[in-house]
Amino acid sequence: MGGELRFSEFFSHGAGLTTSLDALLHCEHSGIQHICVVQSPVFGRMLLLDGMVMLTEWDEFIYHEMLVHPALFLLPSPRRVLVIGGGDGGTVREVLRHPSIEHVDLVEIDPRVIAVAQSYFPTVAAGFSDPRVHLHHADGAEFVRSAPSGFYDAVFVDSTDPTGIAESLFGEAFYSECQRVLHATGVLALQSESPLHPVYCQTLPRVHRLLRPLFRHVASYLAPIPTYPTGIWSFTLASRHYHPLEDFSPTNAQQRMECLSGKLRYYTAELHRAAFALPGFVQELISEGLAQPAP
Ligand code: SAM
Repeated sequence: MGGELRFSEFFSHGAGLTTSLDALLHCEHSGIQHICVVQSPVFGRMLLLDGMVMLTEWDEFIYHEMLVHPALFLLPSPRRVLVIGGGDGGTVREVLRHPSIEHVDLVEIDPRVIAVAQSYFPTVAAGFSDPRVHLHHADGAEFVRSAPSGFYDAVFVDSTDPTGIAESLFGEAFYSECQRVLHATGVLALQSESPLHPVYCQTLPRVHRLLRPLFRHVASYLAPIPTYPTGIWSFTLASRHYHPLEDFSPTNAQQRMECLSGKLRYYTAELHRAAFALPGFVQELISEGLAQPAP
């Protein structure tokens, strides 16, 4: 008899996440990365890229709601949206909940991620069949270079870690193009890694250092993502026009929440404000990073 099936993801020196598995449902190499789907008794189905958790059925709602809704509820009536990465469909699903949305470009470098998500995570990937959604199998950094100026109301960067194929999505040139393709009142929101990660904690101050010259308002916020490395995750929102708190109306968001398609399980108007209240160590991480000379 074979031993118990298990999955572990360690972020440093054997520290990380582990779970027993009921089944290994899919495994392939797409030519770009390993793509696996496993079934966990607690976390449900899990999407793994190169052995790292991208989403679990158990907690993906937290990440996708928190990447998308602070930005979209800040905008009075978002219509055109660009999503870079996000091949599992969760970010697109959250964007489409807003009735004002007319056009979504999803730029995913690995088409096999989209195909696997459609097969194994139909409720996450449901938005891909929406006629407003346009799928592009391309490098996000290249796509933005040829996108029209001022076209988008919001840009979301839902990428893997800032290494390998995703490294270009954390660079100055890319952020400068994101600013160009955004409308003057547009909003950029991106996943900016974990402030507790021994290596990727430096992503947060680096993102601030690169975004602040391009956007008048740059602010980060946190959410717990239990199945991501360290369990605490940061997002960063940037806009030339809107301040994430001063220009956010909880009552307006509350009213608009009634018109969303489907019910949110994590994001609320109160939580929008609370999420931007950063712990001391995160404030220090950002301010110390900003004080250092750019590498
Ligand atoms: N929520 C996850 C996280 O925070 O790590 C990300 C999930 S999503 C599956 C990440 C996607 O980014 C992957 O499907 C990957 O193929 C895609 N990706 C990585 N680099 C990219 C690039 N340069 N252009 C477009 N998509 C890219």
